[in-house]
Amino acid sequence: MSIFSKIKGTIDLMKKVDLDQLAAINKKIDLAKVMDTVGQLDDRQLAGLMKMLSTKKKKGQHKLPPIDGDFYNLSLKLNEKQREIQIKVRNFMEDEVQPIANDYWNRAEFPHDLIPKMAELNIAGIAYEGYGCPAMDFVTEGIIAEEIARVDVSISTFFGVHSGLAMGSIYLCGSEEQKQEWLPAMAKMEKIGAFGLTEPETGSGIAGGMDTTCRKEGDQWILNGQKKWIGNATFADVVVIWARDVDSGQVKGFLVRKGNPNFKAEKMPDKMALRTVQNAIITLTNCSVPESDRLQEAHTFKDTAKVLRMTRAGVAWQAVGCARGAYENALKYTKKREQFGRPIASFQLVQNHLVEMISNLTSMQTLCFRLSEMQDEGILKDEHASLAKVICSMRTRDIVSRAREVMGGNGILLEHNVARFVADAEAIYSYEGTKEINSLIVGRAITGYSAFVS
Ligand SMILES: Cc1cc2nc3c(=O)[nH]c(=O)nc-3n(C[C@H](O)[C@H](O)[C@H](O)COP(=O)(O)OP(=O)(O)OC[C@H]3O[C@@H](n4cnc5c(N)ncnc54)[C@H](O)[C@@H]3O)c2cc1C
Repeated sequence: MSIFSKIKGTIDLMKKVDLDQLAAINKKIDLAKVMDTVGQLDDRQLAGLMKMLSTKKKKGQHKLPPIDGDFYNLSLKLNEKQREIQIKVRNFMEDEVQPIANDYWNRAEFPHDLIPKMAELNIAGIAYEGYGCPAMDFVTEGIIAEEIARVDVSISTFFGVHSGLAMGSIYLCGSEEQKQEWLPAMAKMEKIGAFGLTEPETGSGIAGGMDTTCRKEGDQWILNGQKKWIGNATFADVVVIWARDVDSGQVKGFLVRKGNPNFKAEKMPDKMALRTVQNAIITLTNCSVPESDRLQEAHTFKDTAKVLRMTRAGVAWQAVGCARGAYENALKYTKKREQFGRPIASFQLVQNHLVEMISNLTSMQTLCFRLSEMQDEGILKDEHASLAKVICSMRTRDIVSRAREVMGGNGILLEHNVARFVADAEAIYSYEGTKEINSLIVGRAITGYSAFVS
């Protein structure tokens, strides 16, 4: 064989290598050592080994395909760096988070020990340029959201609030000094952020109906009001608070630091979804914040909306991850569970559910991939992000309910790793704009008429 055909053969082989499987094997055995040993075998020994390893089917036995929710091989569209990050995040989620996810969710506690380990992945603020951030693309950000949510939607929400909403507010609306102060430490996850927009009496209508006020007194701003649902707020080092200026009527943003005596964050108890996320009711009572901690580039609600446009795409990806986790766990279960003497995966009605699930999941993944490409191309508009959020959060609800259905009673037990996704899909459905609000945004874009109540 000529050297050229050997090289060609090697390149062809490399194209076929499944990096996921390779990474999974590498976790179990020292691949380098194995390769070294195999390299020392002579032809006869190699032939014997191949015979031993050959997976010839015995009569009546058939090889089952791997469990993989990436049906259209989107991972092949990723470049080497993106793929490396995907596998790194997947390994972290499967090794560090999967074993503890149900326990923390059940106890409604947050696993703080995970933060330094997660920081080592170097993925916070992944798409931002400068300030210690990796300056990658939005496709990578989307893939990360999917990988995290595929194992634990709570952890992906914690991460989305920190990296997307809080860091994003500072990145898009902060002054140079504010970015220099906060972003490098937040990228290293040494400082954690939260984002306070929603209020007890105003959710969807927040753009026009914000009750929290700010008033300038000398070089201080005085904040009064309440915020509801604020993720990470019980332990965050900085909470971005949005408030309406009593003088100009415009919405402004503030960086409220941990320890501010007139800022109180109380954990919201008894949630039925995202139980690991620490959501809080925040009360601001004559809370004094210096002018230097006002987000200098946030002038009206339009600036707040810029942050939401960027993060809404991430929420659509989160829905994809939630759906993928439920689908993969349910598929695995149906291949093992036997009834009437056969795996339930072999029944037509069960396969119908599985096919509905993978069809919806594949459409969501391909849609989100294009969404992130548009974000990278700088052509993403509110209505694009809203459409993805609407369709993905709706389809996810359908997928998780089918996942639960094909598992019978075990579908509602945490230990089978689908029940948590069923509950968490409900939170994704409501936050970052409900179905109705995002539909109104898309409706306005395609008809030219605003159906929002003014
Ligand atoms: C788990 C979780 C985490 C969250 N984290 C955060 C956070 O970190 N920071 C933050 O600021 N917020 C957060 N939120 C708040 C979230 O963004 C709001 O819940 C969301 O915007 C909806 O507001 P609401 O719950 O007050 O519902 P409402 O606005 O009261 O809506 C109730 C219903 O009325 C419908 N509706 C409202 N207006 C219209 C209309 N014009 N036409 C038709 N239907 C309408 C809605 O679609 C919905 O079905 C979180 C929420 C949840 C559930």
